[in-house]
Amino acid sequence: MPAARRTLLESLPATCQVCAAWPAQPVCPACIERFALPRTRCRACAAALPYESGLCGACLTRPDAPAVEHCVAAVDYAYPWDGLIARFKFQSEPGWAQPFAQRLLQVPQTLPLLQTRPLMVPIPLTATRLGERGYNQAWELVKALRAQCSRDTRALPCDTLADALVRLGETPDQHSLGRDARLRNLRGVFAAHPAHAQRLVGRHVLLVDDVTTTGATLHTAAQALLQAGAARVSALVFARTPPSR
Ligand SMILES: [Zn+2]
Ligand SMILES: [Zn+2]
Repeated sequence: MPAARRTLLESLPATCQVCAAWPAQPVCPACIERFALPRTRCRACAAALPYESGLCGACLTRPDAPAVEHCVAAVDYAYPWDGLIARFKFQSEPGWAQPFAQRLLQVPQTLPLLQTRPLMVPIPLTATRLGERGYNQAWELVKALRAQCSRDTRALPCDTLADALVRLGETPDQHSLGRDARLRNLRGVFAAHPAHAQRLVGRHVLLVDDVTTTGATLHTAAQALLQAGAARVSALVFARTPPSR
């Protein structure tokens, strides 16, 4: 049994953490079928769309071009994923990175992104937040994706850079804010790490995060990467807030 899988099994109980079926993966196939329905999403911000493909209304009407060329999300940020993500982030359960990465790799749009040989980069935490939590959940997701890609029979190459971006300040609580206010809040929050900026030049960078609410954080981080010389930026997020929330 691979070490990563063994670690996960040791760190999570052997029942489905949603329906308590036993024995099972952390989320059993029946719960995945029920709660991870395939969705058509906005190409730039991964908002669920009622129509076939393209951009959502917010992305079509924004004044500047989306800095994220293509954003793929695995699930809606809703039951049961919201609770599992809270455990992943706030209850010292980084083992959730494995099943979340597995779901992301099963979204059909993920494979074409990985086949471009991107440089995978996590959305960083501030040093203070990282110190409190002990790990960056986005970097845990990157590592889980890299490990699963290395075992993939399609031999997906995975290049990663943990410190491509630095987070210069904590953002005030964004919860109640709309997208424009969030973008104002985030101005100047991300910068390319001076020691690693050279590795970004000319690359397709794949930003990775656990949750996106409006896409504002991804957009701002992508702008910093493009300013540092990245050729283009796409994003993989595990969960996207549904538009109604
Ligand atoms: Zn279940
Ligand atoms: Zn959109």
